Amino acid sequence: MRHTKFSQLAQIYLELEQIMSGNLMRKILSEFLKTIPKNEINIISYMTLGRIASKYSEVNIGMAEKMVLRSIADAAKKHMGVIEKEFMKKGDVGLVAEQNVRHGRKTLSAKEVFETLHKIANVSGAGSQEKKICLLSKLFANASPLEAKYLARIVVGQLRLGAGEKTLLDSMAIAFTGSKKAKKTIEHAYNVCPDIGVIAKTVVKSGLAGVGKIDVLPGRPVQMMLAQRVEKITDITKKIRGDIAAEEKYDGERVQAHSQNGKITLFSRRLENITAQFPDVIAALKKNIRSKTYILEGEVVPVDNKGNLLPFQILMARKRKHEIEKYASKVPVHFYIFDILLANGSSFLRQQYPKRRKMLEKITKECPPIFLSRRTVSKNIDDIESFFDDVLQRGCEGIVAKSCAADSYYTPGTRGWLWIKWKREYQKELADTFDLVIVGAFAGRGKRSGSYGALLCAVYNPDTEKFETLCKLGSGFSDEQLAELPKKFPAIKQQPSNVSVAKNMTPDIWVAPEQVIEVLGAEITKSQLHTAGSGLALRFPRFVRYRHDKSPEQATTPKEILKIMKARSYK
Ligand code: AMP
Repeated sequence: MRHTKFSQLAQIYLELEQIMSGNLMRKILSEFLKTIPKNEINIISYMTLGRIASKYSEVNIGMAEKMVLRSIADAAKKHMGVIEKEFMKKGDVGLVAEQNVRHGRKTLSAKEVFETLHKIANVSGAGSQEKKICLLSKLFANASPLEAKYLARIVVGQLRLGAGEKTLLDSMAIAFTGSKKAKKTIEHAYNVCPDIGVIAKTVVKSGLAGVGKIDVLPGRPVQMMLAQRVEKITDITKKIRGDIAAEEKYDGERVQAHSQNGKITLFSRRLENITAQFPDVIAALKKNIRSKTYILEGEVVPVDNKGNLLPFQILMARKRKHEIEKYASKVPVHFYIFDILLANGSSFLRQQYPKRRKMLEKITKECPPIFLSRRTVSKNIDDIESFFDDVLQRGCEGIVAKSCAADSYYTPGTRGWLWIKWKREYQKELADTFDLVIVGAFAGRGKRSGSYGALLCAVYNPDTEKFETLCKLGSGFSDEQLAELPKKFPAIKQQPSNVSVAKNMTPDIWVAPEQVIEVLGAEITKSQLHTAGSGLALRFPRFVRYRHDKSPEQATTPKEILKIMKARSYK
C-alpha cells in the first residue's frame, strides 16, 4: 500500500506559505490532491487545514506551546532552558522546531503523523502530559527540519497557510471534477456537512453526483442559514414577493438541537458542542418534542422569573464548566424554536418554509421554557411594520422577515434574500453595526499607557479568505474593558498571512484574527489607509460588545459594506 509521505505534505505547505495568489494556491493544491491515494484524501484534507478532525469535532491535541518545546528539547537532546530562550526570541514553535530538529532515520508518513496526533489527543489521566510529550518527541526525532516546523505548528493550532477551507474545496473541484458547476455543489455540501474529510472522500469515491447527495445527519451540525439586511423596511417587499412571515428576532444564542433516537446534542453557531450548558433546554425538548430523530433550530434567550426577555450578555454566566445546574436556575432561559431541518428521520432542507413551520407546529408542544417563534404573516408591509413596533416593546431586537415562496428552502451557511433582518438600530440615521475581527492593536499613551490605545479591526473577505482592515477602534470601552484588552487580545510575533494591512496602518502589536466584536459606525468613506474592499474605512466607530458566538469567518464582508455605502448615498 502506497502512503503519502509527510515530507510531501511539508513541501506543499512551504510552497503555499510563500505564495499570495489564490489561483496559484488552487493550482498547486489541486495537482497535489490528484497524487494522493484515495483512502488518505480525508487525512490530507484535515491536515492541510491544520487540523486532525472536522472543525466541529471535539478532538483536542491538548498540548500548549511549553509542552511542544519540551518535546523538541527531548528529541534534539538539548536543555529546555536553551529551547525556551530561542522561543522567547522567535515567538514561533515552528521556527524553534526547524532550528533544532535534525534529520531522523525513519521516513514519516502523513498517516503515521495523523494517527500519532490522535493518540496524543486521546491520552488522559495521570501522567498524561509526560505521555503526550513522549509521543510527540518520537515524531520530532524522525522528522526533517521542515517537517518539524509544520508539525509543531499543527500541534499548537497555528498552521495558518493562507489556504483556507474555500481554497481547499475549490482545489477539490478542480482536481476531481473539472467542472465549473462543481464548486457550488461542493461548497453547498460543505455547508450541509462541515466535515472536510467526509467531503473529500465523497468527491474521490462517488464524484459530484455523490457530493450532491450529501444530506443532513442527526449529530452532525449544519452550517446555519443567515439573514440579509435592507436599508429601508419597505425594501423587504422588493425582495420577498407574496406572503412575508415576520418573526420576532430574539437577541440570544442561536442553537441547533439534534436528537438521534432521543439522544440530544446542542450546537452553537460556531458549531461547538454546547450541550452541557443547557440541561433545562434538553429536559424540555425530551418532554415536548414529539419526534425521536430531528434537527431543529432556535434562539436561547435569558429571561427573568416572570418570563420577560433579558439582554443577551446575561447568558455568559452559563458558559461554565462547574455548577451548571445551579446557574441554570439562576439564569433561566427560554428556547424559541424557528426552524426544522430534519423531522422523524426525513430531511427538511428542501421543503419550503411554510411546510417546515407546519411540521414544527405539529411536533412541538409549547410549554415553558419551549416556545415557537412568535410571528405574523402578511403581504402588507404596514402589518409588518406594526408587528415590528410591537416586538420592540417585548424586548426583541427586531424582526426576521421570511419568504413563504415555493423555493423558500433552508439554505445552510448562506446569507440570502429568503431571510431579511430588520433591527432597531437600523432606524437610527447613519448608524449601522458591523461584526469585525481584531487583527492588531496600537500601544496606549497618556491615560491609556500600559494598555492598548486602539484596536485594529477587519472585515472578512470570503473570496480571498483574507481579513481586510476597516477601522481603528478606541472608543466605547469602559475603563475595565480597556484595562483587560491586552489580556483578551495577546500579541503574536508576526503578521498572519491571511491578514491584509496597508503600510501606514501597521499596528504596534499583531493579534491572531480569532475574535469578533460588534462595532457601531457612523460613516463609511474611501481611504487608502485601510484594505477593506480595496480602500474602505469606517469613521467614528464605537465598541458595542464582544460576539463570542461568531467565528471570524462570520464577520461582516466587504460586499456588505459596499452595499450599505451605496444605499446611503441615495439618501
Ligand atoms: P445577526 O446575528 O445580526 O446576523 O442576525 C441573525 C441572527 O438572528 C440569527 O443567526 C439568529 O441567531 C438570530 N435570530 C433571532 N431570532 C430569529 C428568528 N426568528 N429567525 C431567524 N434568526 C433569528
